Amino acid sequence: MIEQNVSLQPYNTFGLTAKAKLLSRVTDVPTLQAVLSDSTVKNEERFILGGGSNILLTKDINALVVKNEIGGIELEYEDSDSFRIKSGAGVVWHDLVMHCIANGYAGIENLSLIPGNVGAAPMQNIGAYGVELKNVFHSLEAVEIATGELRRFSAEECQFGYRESVFKRKLKGQYIITSVSLNLSKAPELNTSYGAIEQELERLNISTPTIQDVSRAVINIRSSKLPDPKILGNSGSFFKNPVVETSQFEELKANYASIPGYPAGDKTKLAAGWLIEQCGWKGKVVGNTGSHAQQALVLVNYGNATGVEIFELSEQIMQSVYNTFGVQLEREVNVY
Ligand code: FAD
Ligand code: NAP
Repeated sequence: MIEQNVSLQPYNTFGLTAKAKLLSRVTDVPTLQAVLSDSTVKNEERFILGGGSNILLTKDINALVVKNEIGGIELEYEDSDSFRIKSGAGVVWHDLVMHCIANGYAGIENLSLIPGNVGAAPMQNIGAYGVELKNVFHSLEAVEIATGELRRFSAEECQFGYRESVFKRKLKGQYIITSVSLNLSKAPELNTSYGAIEQELERLNISTPTIQDVSRAVINIRSSKLPDPKILGNSGSFFKNPVVETSQFEELKANYASIPGYPAGDKTKLAAGWLIEQCGWKGKVVGNTGSHAQQALVLVNYGNATGVEIFELSEQIMQSVYNTFGVQLEREVNVY
């Protein structure tokens, strides 16, 4: 069924009041293919929606919104030291993480509590606390919008980078991801290298953590720092952490001794939140929007913000970071 003139406010975590001209909820691949070949909507543009936690809607969506609700988690393959799990794209990412932890499938515990659906996870190679989707990724299936054909992509074909993939670049808007398969381990190699995890495990008095413990630590940290979109509209980090030449980092360090930098190959990753805070934006309220008081990288909707207002704030922040540090921030959130 195709609905008309649908409010997208419940479907984006900024809580913005855009409308979709048309909306179709798809729960399996054949239905998706049928919607794509439906002659009554063949001239409409397509807009793919997951959990709406990484989008900024600056206007109504004059398109057919395909809301991906393809469910199901299955064990595809198992050997003596690993599992391969296949998940439908419409499964809530955190539900998949909890399912894996409950079954002893290790590898995505650091990615606990990331909002959104499984199908969007490869889009920006989601990452947190030292782990990225690409570390456990096996393959995905996607339907080509132009032809309706289902095809498989290997990790290499996805061209994962730092919060990047081929689906955000060369193949943008061309495929609808329908399932994702992950390689998970029977022998957990815990990654507690992010200081905050170690500290939280210590606070919990845990010296030999399990994957459940790491997940709990991550959930505790995230819940204490990040605004809950159900209470305060937001889309997580609005900007990516910029990766700069190490020589540029060293020049910056000469002027700003406390500037954080982390090795990223032969380059250096800066903390966008730190740059924004130094420019005085942290906790600043601008009309109905602002930069969050506990995490400058997160822009929030105080209730009646429009997407345009949030976009304009992001422009001002980018300009002031550039003027101060000569570093160009890039939006992580997908703007429409
Ligand atoms: P949506 O917002 O619905 O879509 C995002 C983009 O992907 C859109 O361009 C959309 O068209 C496209 N898309 C969605 N589904 C599909 C599909 N099946 N096929 C093709 N294209 C598709 N991200 C991190 O990486 N790490 C974090 O730690 C993190 N923390 C967050 C914390 C908060 C509080 C919030 C609100 C967000 C956070 N995010 C984080 C960002 C966000 O959760 C992720 O990017 C998530 O993967 C988005 O999923 P979604 O289903 O909501 O995608
Ligand atoms: P944080 O711990 O305050 O650290 C600030 C930034 O420094 C992070 O963005 C992180 O980069 C980097 N960093 C910290 N320790 C590092 C280390 N040991 N090695 C390499 N990089 C390090 O960050 P936070 O804001 O509370 O977020 C914690 C984690 O959750 C981060 O991984 C962050 O990406 C993720 N997160 C993402 C979103 C989103 O929407 N994308 C929202 C909330 C949280 P990285 O971001 O590259 O890890």
